Amino acid sequence: MILFISDLHLEIKRPDITRAFFRYLKNLPAQTEALYILGDLFEVWIGDDDHSAFNMEVIGKLREASESTKIHIMRGNRDFLYGEEFTKLSHCQLISDPSLINYQGHNYLLMHGDSLCTEDHSYMAFREQVRSPAWQAEILAQPIEQRHNLARQLRETSLEANSQKSIDIMDVTPDEVLKVMAKHQVTRLIHGHTHRPGEHTVEVNGQSATRWVLGDWDQYGWQIQIDDNGPLLSKFSLE
Ligand code: MN
Repeated sequence: MILFISDLHLEIKRPDITRAFFRYLKNLPAQTEALYILGDLFEVWIGDDDHSAFNMEVIGKLREASESTKIHIMRGNRDFLYGEEFTKLSHCQLISDPSLINYQGHNYLLMHGDSLCTEDHSYMAFREQVRSPAWQAEILAQPIEQRHNLARQLRETSLEANSQKSIDIMDVTPDEVLKVMAKHQVTRLIHGHTHRPGEHTVEVNGQSATRWVLGDWDQYGWQIQIDDNGPLLSKFSLE
């Protein structure tokens, strides 16, 4: 069995979610071959050199769980600044977005999901900027406190901008989904980001295909498990 989660948005302000995540890691079923965290594990990640007590505690739990289960982590739109030190300390493997895996004879394309929201032009421009190595190097050279301020600023700007955007713009662009699935020749896609958990049937090159969307951890926790019965999206209590 393999498991997928995303969009936990871990932060000090939500100890309930942090506790639920630690419990989730501790109680991973023995038959779990791998856990995939598809972006936005943290609400914000300003660089691996931010050794706050909170970050180090989460990293410690990841390392502990990694002893029995392989953990793969994808960068999200909030925690895109993971680097080598993070992987060394957490014993997790960073995977690129998108990533293609094969499990039980089926190919799955894994994404965070933000790159599918192509109608959100201002966000796409921002995404390109913050993913550029030059921008990242410049930011990472700043003192931690300054980076925290920048992160706060960016978040406020994004909240303000999002409140002006229509619901559709912040969801995936249907054509982009088909394009990406066709490009990678898959009929199965798993992503998060939109906070709209669900299972959608689409048609890719005349073939029936499925897009599973993970939910964010807020009222509930969400996961997708793939076992002998195929993929299953489910929610569970954070208590
Ligand atoms: Mn996201």
